Amino acid sequence: MHRVYLDNNATTPVLPEVFETMRPYFDERFGNASSIHHHGQETRAAVEDARESVAALLGCTAAEIVFTSGGTESDNLAISGWVAAGDHVITSSIEHHAVLHACKHLEKLGCEVTILPVDGRGIVDPSDVLRALRPNTKLISVMMANNETGVLQPVEEIGKIASESQVLFHTDAVQAAAKVPIDVRKLGCDALSISGHKIHAPQGVGALYVKKGTRIQPLFHGGRHERSRRAGTENVPGIVALGKAAQLAKEGLDRGDDKKIAIMRDRLQQGILAQVDETAVNGKGAARVPNTTNIRFDHIEGESLVIALDLKGLAVSTGAACSSGAIEPSHVLIAMGLRPDQARSSIRFSLGKQTSESDIDFALSLVPETVAHLRAISPRYVKQAVST
Ligand code: PLP
Repeated sequence: MHRVYLDNNATTPVLPEVFETMRPYFDERFGNASSIHHHGQETRAAVEDARESVAALLGCTAAEIVFTSGGTESDNLAISGWVAAGDHVITSSIEHHAVLHACKHLEKLGCEVTILPVDGRGIVDPSDVLRALRPNTKLISVMMANNETGVLQPVEEIGKIASESQVLFHTDAVQAAAKVPIDVRKLGCDALSISGHKIHAPQGVGALYVKKGTRIQPLFHGGRHERSRRAGTENVPGIVALGKAAQLAKEGLDRGDDKKIAIMRDRLQQGILAQVDETAVNGKGAARVPNTTNIRFDHIEGESLVIALDLKGLAVSTGAACSSGAIEPSHVLIAMGLRPDQARSSIRFSLGKQTSESDIDFALSLVPETVAHLRAISPRYVKQAVST
């Protein structure tokens, strides 16, 4: 069966060059990067090269990069690494659960948390950040790009507010890395999270940028790995892969690959809007990462559309989470003001480096007929059509 994958915000395939670079570190070059003999020196050098490549992608020094097991760990390290009972934290209602649930946990430890709203486009207002500041505010955590809508947040303005108020600023850039240029100095952030599997490296590796001079409490206690910021033997193959993926991402951004992806994304989006009525783009009017579009198809269940498209070979997703057997509408779309039924009828299409024009043609050939079919068999749609 011909299959097209447009769910790159969930995870990306490991690029062949990335795989070839990491492969020798499973067998030929297997040393523990902390060992002083030849085998350890070999892998230590590879880890430090990878650190340089990740630093080059983010615009920082290699010493400011801490390797982790992924985006979730990076977010948790940044959030719990600086905050103690009695401190106040500001975050937003559209964050990934890695941030929102980490903040909820802080509340249990005696911290205060303010969760800021977003507007209808899904954007946090920096003046809300300013108004939320308190004398005990320790940390602001606002993401760079949202995983469901791709909407970019005004992180530079928020970084300025944070530094003027002497409050630490963390941004979750898991969905921004490799899609838009990142310069941590320009952002004025103290910590920034990335994840390997969103940028064509494997699952289970990530990094946190921690600004020089900001001491962070580790999540794990053990050896002095990663300058005592993350204990545990380094995942050398994963780190080598992340370094290669970061290098390829930087080269791609320098070449303008992001513009090519944006053109394909826009063709997909416009094609769908032109062929299917009663649709809308969630996050319309906001600056977005180039690979993502989130479209609402009124009168259908997003889950049904995902399944129907999957049966025909197209992989897309909803932002909905399945908890205790019930489909919860996306907290991001609800925060943007959508009704639960509108949130449930929304689908995310996310392109990757491997997406081709023919993949877009395939999606455009399937989506309109599949939506039409689901609406035709939906009692909800018939009722709606009669009453309007
Ligand atoms: N933050 C954002 C915005 C994400 O989209 C994700 C994953 O979907 C994460 C954090 C978690 O990253 P990981 O899967 O590497 O733990």
